[in-house]
Amino acid sequence: IVQWTPFFQTYKKQRYPWIQLAGHQGNFKAGPDQGTILKKLCPQEETCFKLLMKDVLRPFVPEYKGQVTCEDGELYLQLQDLLSNFDCPCVMDCKIGVRTYLEEELAKAKEKTKLRKDMYEKMIQIDPKAPTEEEHRSKGVTKPRYMIWRETISSTATLGFRIDGVKKADGTSSKDFKTTKTREQILEAFKEFTNNFSSSVPKYLERLRNIRATLQESHFFRTHELIGSSLLFVHDKKRASIWMIDFAKTVPVPDNVNIDHKTAWKVGNHEDGYLIGLDNLISIFESLTKE
Ligand code: ATP
Ligand code: MG
Ligand code: MG
Repeated sequence: IVQWTPFFQTYKKQRYPWIQLAGHQGNFKAGPDQGTILKKLCPQEETCFKLLMKDVLRPFVPEYKGQVTCEDGELYLQLQDLLSNFDCPCVMDCKIGVRTYLEEELAKAKEKTKLRKDMYEKMIQIDPKAPTEEEHRSKGVTKPRYMIWRETISSTATLGFRIDGVKKADGTSSKDFKTTKTREQILEAFKEFTNNFSSSVPKYLERLRNIRATLQESHFFRTHELIGSSLLFVHDKKRASIWMIDFAKTVPVPDNVNIDHKTAWKVGNHEDGYLIGLDNLISIFESLTKE
């Protein structure tokens, strides 16, 4: 595993280092109130948080405390800091779903038929056998082709989730899970993540089952496509819990469409595979409890 330095930030108001595992560093700041953080405002995400505060899912998302304008004039969402009740927390971000781009983004990419040399290069760096003969000949791939392929190098397309980042108790962090793909590799990574914290495993499993049951009752979940959203796992010696985060690409399902979050995705059906990912997570954590 390649060592990677996460964005550790020791804020004046917070007496603990805050850890950010994904996203741009500039998107987050310490919040004005104790136990809160600020995330750069994205209107779509704010709409989701407002709905979630009235949904049965509320206990499973960070509390939304409204908008804040910073000195720089930028708008931020003030959110509950999920790490604030933990002592030296271990953190893992799992991005849920069988794809991480919106149908709309794929449609836009399809309008551009230009062959991309940069994407071809990225492709052969990871798997020299991935391009077709013709793609090899032209040394280029189209953007939609690249987008669809990229979800197959991690566990996203097959297991319906991927590990996006981990910070363990020994302080080491890694974002190097781009090609962590098989169930065995994931199980190994979860084992390492919970190593020496065996009491966290049953707590995580219980929380995952609670989330699963609540999603089934949620109006928000029934009516939204969740793309690029994560489950944030946090534990220390005493506690372990999981929250749903990152709704920047969570959009209402079109009026004439129904999704069950479980049916295989086909271009245009809007399925996100959220429950495929969650069920695989539950099954892998079940295996861990039997180790
Ligand atoms: P990306 O789209 O690249 O995943 P983003 O900018 O939309 O990133 P998020 O995914 O919401 O940002 O968050 C990035 C990271 O910040 C998470 O992986 C997590 O480590 C941390 N984080 C986000 N929200 C919270 C929160 N409420 N409490 C504690 N940590 C958080
Ligand atoms: Mg994210
Ligand atoms: Mg995001």
